[in-house]
Amino acid sequence: MPVIAYIGIGSNIGDAAANCRKAIELLSEAGRVVGVSSLYHTEPVGRHEQDDFINAVAVLETDRSPGELLNVCQAIEDRLGRKRGLRWGPRTADLDILLYGDLVSAQPELTIPHPQMALRKFVLAPLAEIAPDAMHPLLCRTASQLYRELKDPHTVIKCRQETKTP
Ligand code: AMP
Repeated sequence: MPVIAYIGIGSNIGDAAANCRKAIELLSEAGRVVGVSSLYHTEPVGRHEQDDFINAVAVLETDRSPGELLNVCQAIEDRLGRKRGLRWGPRTADLDILLYGDLVSAQPELTIPHPQMALRKFVLAPLAEIAPDAMHPLLCRTASQLYRELKDPHTVIKCRQETKTP
């Protein structure tokens, strides 16, 4: 049975919007992309001496296991030229599995729900836009509830330019 997974995408190197769109296009290798949020222009979290990010969330219907999906996400990051380096540093493409159905996984190499997702406006703004009713299986709160209750002071602005819907 296919599962609905939510993938957070970010970029702040080169043409960040184009990198996000390309990453979303490549995600179809792991299933059917059934929804894409707007792109968001976001202030970096953690390290300030870097460019702002573009972030988005894609909704993927997938038959892949969580581990296989992580491999696809990492292969997309590599193909888009990501150099693994500084934590919270600049990146051409970062793909995170936010939710995978109602799965809970506590392995360090694959923690689902993504441990920071409920704390980050750059994740919850696009997630609440595209899937307001998506449920966080540990917090038992929907994306829109988490977004409304969030206290993250970082600036997150929806871009006027639309992402291509599938
Ligand atoms: P980052 O540099 O933030 O993209 O982190 C990459 C590392 O996080 C990889 O080694 C992954 O195995 C690990 N990781 C743990 N949980 C997740 C998740 N839900 N989505 C993507 N990467 C994850």
